[in-house]
Amino acid sequence: MSEESVLKGGRLITDGINRIKGFTNVFAIGDVSAVVTEKNPVGFPGVAQVALQQGKQLVKNIINLVNGKPMIAFTYVDLGTMETIGRNKAVANLHKLRFKGFFAWLLWMFVHLMSLAGFSNKAIVIFNWAVNYLTRNSDNRLIIHYFKTNTMTMDPVAR
Ligand SMILES: Cc1cc2nc3c(=O)[nH]c(=O)nc-3n(C[C@H](O)[C@H](O)[C@H](O)COP(=O)(O)OP(=O)(O)OC[C@H]3O[C@@H](n4cnc5c(N)ncnc54)[C@H](O)[C@@H]3O)c2cc1C
Repeated sequence: MSEESVLKGGRLITDGINRIKGFTNVFAIGDVSAVVTEKNPVGFPGVAQVALQQGKQLVKNIINLVNGKPMIAFTYVDLGTMETIGRNKAVANLHKLRFKGFFAWLLWMFVHLMSLAGFSNKAIVIFNWAVNYLTRNSDNRLIIHYFKTNTMTMDPVAR
């Protein structure tokens, strides 16, 4: 992969039909990619909605490619944003509809579960969520960074 195909941050530059810059029939979607256009020089945000919508569009486009039909440029439809902000709490901004608190938290879980492919993935996630909820386990949210400390100045020195 040449440097000109890679954006700062390591994302692969693609055109409107998700084709990697400099390649004919190699495509990239989701977090590894950035659809770079004049209007959108840094690509779409690295969120699940983008990846899901690109996946659906690319399937159609590959079928079109195989059948000798024109491919259709990807357009991102921003459905809104949701974020959990603690136990039983979330915020949801679905453009005209805005929710917060427990209802938004239930909505967040429902939307995320429905977005997972297959029954077994959904079942595993429900099980994990239930265990974490009941045990109040927050291990997975820890971001651990090791430092060596300069004993003279007490300044942290990254390893
Ligand atoms: C902590 C966290 C919280 C987030 N919260 C949100 C949120 O609330 N809402 C939201 O919209 N987005 C959220 N995101 C972003 C969202 O998860 C990503 O945008 C989305 O998952 C991108 O989908 P993807 O298919 O491109 O990549 P991924 O979901 O990362 O899928 C890539 C897959 O490829 C596999 N893989 C990697 N390398 C290889 C290899 N060499 N061979 C085979 N398989 C490989 C990986 O195991 C993985 O299964 C969050 C991300 C993180 C990290």
